[in-house]
Order: sequence, then C-alpha cells, then structure tokens
Amino acid sequence: MIQTLKNAMRIFLHTGSSYTKNPAIIKQIVVMNVFSTIGCLITFCIGVSTFFQDNHIHTSVLFITSFLFLIAFLIQKAELFRNPYPYSSNLMLVTLFIVMAYLIQTGGVDNTGPLWVYIIPPIALFFGGIQKGLINLGLFGLVIATLLFYPDDFLLSTHYSNTFKLRFIYSLLTVTALFTVYEFIREKSYTELEVLSQQFEFQAKRDMLSGLHNRRGMMESLEYEYKRSKRTQSNITLIMCDLDKFKSINDQFGHEKGDEVIKTVSRLFQLNLRELDTIARWGGEEFLILLPMTDKEKGIIIAEKLRDIIQRHVFTYNDKTFNTTVSMGLYQINTTDSINDAISAADNNLYKAKALGRNQCIS
Ligand code: GH3
Ligand code: MG
Ligand code: MG
Repeated sequence: MIQTLKNAMRIFLHTGSSYTKNPAIIKQIVVMNVFSTIGCLITFCIGVSTFFQDNHIHTSVLFITSFLFLIAFLIQKAELFRNPYPYSSNLMLVTLFIVMAYLIQTGGVDNTGPLWVYIIPPIALFFGGIQKGLINLGLFGLVIATLLFYPDDFLLSTHYSNTFKLRFIYSLLTVTALFTVYEFIREKSYTELEVLSQQFEFQAKRDMLSGLHNRRGMMESLEYEYKRSKRTQSNITLIMCDLDKFKSINDQFGHEKGDEVIKTVSRLFQLNLRELDTIARWGGEEFLILLPMTDKEKGIIIAEKLRDIIQRHVFTYNDKTFNTTVSMGLYQINTTDSINDAISAADNNLYKAKALGRNQCIS
C-alpha cells in the first residue's frame, strides 16, 4: 500500500521529465511540479476565503492564478512540447511576478500582500539559474520600486508608510543576496560533484598502466557495438593479442622495463587504430581490440599492419637495443554468437598463432 502510494507520488512528481536524463533538470522539474501543485491549491483556498469576504477582485485574481498554475502543470503532463519545462516554468514565473505586483499595488488582504513577495527570489533563482534569475529579479524590482515610490502613491490603490516601503525593499534585497550566494554554492557543488563522478566513472573503466580500457570498459563497448552491429547489420572483428616471450623481457631487463614495453605497445596500438576502435588491456601482457564495421578480411590487414609496426619498433635498455613481437587471434563476430563465445574464439586463434611459432596473426 505504502509502496503503491510512493510509486504514484514518484510518477506524479516526475511528470514531464521523460525527455531528459540530466539529474539537474529532473530535480528542477520535480520542484516545478511540487510548486505548481502547491501554488494551485493555496491560491484556490485563499480565493475561496476571499470569496466569502465578498472581495470579488481578489477572488478573481486568485482563481485565475490558481488556474494558470494548473495550466503550468498540465503543460508538463500533456507533453505538448518535446521539452515542456521552459514553457511551464516561464508561465509559472510570469504568473507569480504579475500576482506579486498586484498584491503590492492593492495591498492584498489588510495590507499583508507584500509578505508573499519573499518567495520570489528563491524561486526565480532556482528556476532560471543565477544569471537569468537575477535579470528577472532586477526587472521585477524595477516594477515594484516604481509602484511603491511613484510620487503621491499615484500607482498604488493602498497606502504604505515610507519606512515600510524602504524596509521592504532592503529586506527583499537581503533575501535576494542570500539566495544568490546559496544558489551559487549549490550550482558550484553540483558541478564539482558531477566532474568528480565523471572522473570516477572514467577511471573505473581504465587501466592505470597503459591508459587503455580495462575489462569493464571493454565489455561496455562490446555490448554497445554488438547491439549496434545487429541493428545496422555491420560486422565486428575482435583481435586478441599477446606479447611473445614477455617473461624473458622481464627476466633480462627487469619488471620496470617490462612495464615500459607494455606502455609503448599500447601507445603504438592507439596511434595506429581508428578513433572508433576500442583497445583494452585484457590481462598482464594481453590486449583485446574491438574493430567495429570491419570484416575479417579487413581485420587481418589491420592486424598484420600492427604486428609489423611492433616487430620493427626498437626498444632500448641502457646501451642495448631489443625488439619484441606479438601474436594475434582474430574472430569476426556472428549474429548468433554471444559476446563471450566471440572472445573465446579469438582467444583460440591466438593460441593457434602461439602454437604455430608466434609473431603471426590467425583468423
Ligand atoms: P608467450 O609467448 O607464450 O605469451 O610467453 P610469455 O612469456 O609472454 O607468457 P607467460 O604467460 O609465460 O608470461 C607472461 C609474463 O608477463 C609473466 C608476467 O610476469 C608478465 N607480466 C604480466 N603482467 C605484467 C605487468 O603488468 N608488467 C610486467 N612488467 N610484466 C607483466
Ligand atoms: Mg605472452
Ligand atoms: Mg599472456
């Protein structure tokens, strides 16, 4: 029961957010839905109470406001526009500005109207962001200052003392300044958090030594490309690649030099493959290369090119020089294969390349 209520509430609050995945915009939409609903109900209730006090102008203004808040919510719900949020939030802000100016001009009930104006700064800053929010608030400030300070209260249909008017403007400026600082800190922390989370996500998919993808990053690319190849009926070729007799490099030149060789080979792969290819360090001295839109004939040309580049690269150790070679197993993915089947098939071909004497490509 509670779960059903929670779900209904969630669906209600997220009305109109289906077009975006940006968490910052979703939060704004949720607040906007809460605000338009509460605004609609409160103005309706106060409208009913002023109706019984025979204040028909206030009643009409409040009912129209309530109706406009309802429209702001319905714009979200009807999804008339691809991206409804700017329309509904602008409608809500403009409605609020007009109602607040009306409350100041008339004084509302017993001159309490201006009290409601304090909700304007946080709302304008939250929905518009600092820049647009401050511009809107500046314009609104100009309008109410003109209403309040026009000589002889010519534009007002009520009376406020001069002290009240000045204190009202000062306190409104203070609230605006405080909310600007608050909004600035909120936006800044949000951006910082977002950058951090992107960095974590990036690191979680990277291999520290080589800077290439790790297994996790490669599996993600594989799943994405696998789906895409099915949809577009294009080919994918995998290359499983392993450095030959790498243990002897470690034994002769030390583990650190071994690490350097892994880094250099990684860089040579990166320099000589396309941007759309994914290269991963699959194990210690083992690499998996994903070539989208590539059949096995093209794959073997690419693999041979890489094999040749690596065997011709000259490594140095003190005053000695040495070379290294790689063996490669290729496999063109079939639509009936699972991703793991395809990786195993490439691995089997690598095993064959090793068995046939290393420094070669088998498909
Ligand atoms: P094969 O041609 O059959 O592949 O021979 P191999 O010597 O390359 O293969 P083997 O599996 O016997 O040894 C791999 C070696 O790679 C053993 C391990 O110490 C070394 N290795 C694995 N990861 C790293 C690493 O990150 N840095 C360094 N320096 N060496 C590594
Ligand atoms: Mg090896
Ligand atoms: Mg190995």
